[in-house]
Amino acid sequence: VALPAPVMRIFDYLPPENQALQPQAGQRVRVPFGKSTRVGVLIGLHNHSDVPPRQLRNVLTILDVEPVLDAHVLKLAKWACRYYHHPPGEVFAATLPKLLRRGGTLIRGNSLWELTDAGRDKTPDSLRKRAPLQAQILQIARDTSGVLSTRELESLSGDWRRSLAALVEKKYLDEKNSGHAFDFVPVGRKGASPVLNDSQRLAIETIGAFEDFRAYLLDGVTGSGKTEVYLRCIESALEKNRQSLVLVPEIGLTPQLLDRFRRRLDVAIGALHSGLSDTDRLRNWCASRDGSASVIIGTRSAVFTPLARPGLIIVDEEHDASLKQQDGFRYSARDLAVWRARELNIPVILGSATPSFESLENVSTERYRLLSLPERAGGAKQPDVHVIDLRIHDPSDGLSQPLIQAIRRHLDANGQILLYLNRRGFAPVLMCPGCGNITECRRCDARMVVHQGRSRLVCHHCGAEQGLPSACPDCEGTLRTVGQGTERIEQALGRLFPEQPVVRIDRDTTRRRGEIERRLDMIRGGEARLLLGTQMLTKGHDFPGVTMVGIIDADQGLFGTDFRSSERLAQTFIQVAGRAGRADRPGEVFIQTWFPDHPLLQILVRDGYGQFAQQAMEERRVAGWPPFTHLALLRAESAQRDNAFTFLDEARVVADELATENLRILGPAPAPMERRSGRYRAQLLIQGNDRAAVHRFLKTWRVRLDALKSSRRTRWSLDIDPAELF
Ligand code: ADP
Ligand code: ZN
Repeated sequence: VALPAPVMRIFDYLPPENQALQPQAGQRVRVPFGKSTRVGVLIGLHNHSDVPPRQLRNVLTILDVEPVLDAHVLKLAKWACRYYHHPPGEVFAATLPKLLRRGGTLIRGNSLWELTDAGRDKTPDSLRKRAPLQAQILQIARDTSGVLSTRELESLSGDWRRSLAALVEKKYLDEKNSGHAFDFVPVGRKGASPVLNDSQRLAIETIGAFEDFRAYLLDGVTGSGKTEVYLRCIESALEKNRQSLVLVPEIGLTPQLLDRFRRRLDVAIGALHSGLSDTDRLRNWCASRDGSASVIIGTRSAVFTPLARPGLIIVDEEHDASLKQQDGFRYSARDLAVWRARELNIPVILGSATPSFESLENVSTERYRLLSLPERAGGAKQPDVHVIDLRIHDPSDGLSQPLIQAIRRHLDANGQILLYLNRRGFAPVLMCPGCGNITECRRCDARMVVHQGRSRLVCHHCGAEQGLPSACPDCEGTLRTVGQGTERIEQALGRLFPEQPVVRIDRDTTRRRGEIERRLDMIRGGEARLLLGTQMLTKGHDFPGVTMVGIIDADQGLFGTDFRSSERLAQTFIQVAGRAGRADRPGEVFIQTWFPDHPLLQILVRDGYGQFAQQAMEERRVAGWPPFTHLALLRAESAQRDNAFTFLDEARVVADELATENLRILGPAPAPMERRSGRYRAQLLIQGNDRAAVHRFLKTWRVRLDALKSSRRTRWSLDIDPAELF
């Protein structure tokens, strides 16, 4: 039994004493654990145990009649335990929706109402006077060819459940339990689809030619019609009665993508993301498992969802860092998706305008097949890119004169303008020009960020807050804010363009439920033409009215310390710039920088992502970084600095002892931001050329780490294929 506990082992139990149910791998069981009980997953049956018989306890209850996890998902989870060297109980817990983890039951039923012969003969009009709601329901049942689910009735006003019951009572409708988690009555309407261009057609034909495992990298510039390719491939899977699993990086872009899929596909679509209630999530999970949903769209953790009749897996924005879980069980949903497809022997499509270097390397070693969409669909042009040299055009409140003029020009031409700044708050620094004092967080190696609207200083790393001081705490001098965040830009825009509403989208303005959608609607409806935001605004959204994009601070990412910083920066650039001129109007992109000669910036602007990637990958090869080597990062953090370092020092000694010659061990070293939330953080990096050798090493090392006494005095974790080195 895999039990949620941070240990690298599984637990043996005897079958339950007074339950006749046949134990099967994939069922959940409730077991005694210490003095309490826990819910775990039964992952295998054996007729022996290394635990002495007297110590073996019985399973209390088998919670499922049949397995909730099928053999394939069990295998996936077991593989993930080995690959990520992570405790099995936590891995298995990650495969289940919360309600099942807590011992809840599967959703199996759902009511449907079918018109009886009597119901067919009854004209709705004859009920219109005395029972208008019943008449309405009868009419809807006729429109949906005789079968109703609650979905069709939810928009009715009044007590439609009572009217429904009355119709059942009168035997006009017959209530049935479908036995499925989810019911969908096709309306027989499908949205129109555009005529494909040649590249799209080639991609679709290539993918459609085989039903067995192949991995495709769909490399298509922003707006090139990748989603259209996904839709067609999903349609052909549907024709063969196969499900498609679509993974997307962010919750922010799920509603819009879902809408688009719903408009185009006349089938049951189940969503899986954190914006849903636990029950809805469970229902959609069950619908994927029992096959009543034909398309499943979800974020990262949806990669573990059981599929009744799998046919296709799609990973959209495959380069996106959020596909990698960054705490606890640190898995890559993209890599697991490819593993699943191989195991299920079905195709997998990885799509991006800015493919990860890992995937590009998989193309050059022919593990993936490349499909390119080099041009924008529907005749839209690539935007013109202009670099604004801030050494010449000194900005005020972050905006230079050429940028302001461009905004004015696009406003006059009735365009929409998107300004990107990946820093929320008013200003990142509050300082005293008199004594040089800068307000820092007490618990982090970080500066407090000024949030003027709320009159607070906030640490963006630990969330600590304090009131905005009126004078310098040291010398009582007047304080000054330095630099800018989205809040300051919003104010500056308000002064420059008083008649234009500004829609700002960042974590501060979208805390309330539904607020993102409300703001996005203002943009799409054209009520607002000045848009300003952080990363949140740039991912995946299709804003056809945007004619200009301004990158307010290009220098944020130019001098990063992580080996991936330049890749990330280039991806952000291209994704942000890609929001401009998507429809029939050409777009312009303006980039403000103090370093216009920076080679990275130059190559990106002049030659685009492909060239940039080639050159940057060559640098990675020479320096021995991924994708040409394989990494594992051991992180430790502790309130006492020594505890973290003692553990890592000892881990290093063990590593030196176990390491073969092809393995490099770097560190221990403090994390780039050493102190965070009052804890000191440090790390040890393992790097090797041969993936299998790295994993052989990790397997033994991990066991030895658990045995170190110092490992219990610090919080630590092992991150395989880390996305970031901090
Ligand atoms: P991507 O996913 O690559 O960013 P989309 O699939 O969202 O691109 O397509 C961008 C826009 O172009 C969408 O509005 C889409 O409806 C439209 N589009 C896609 N393919 C075509 C086509 N073949 N002809 C005309 N318009 C298209
Ligand atoms: Zn802090």
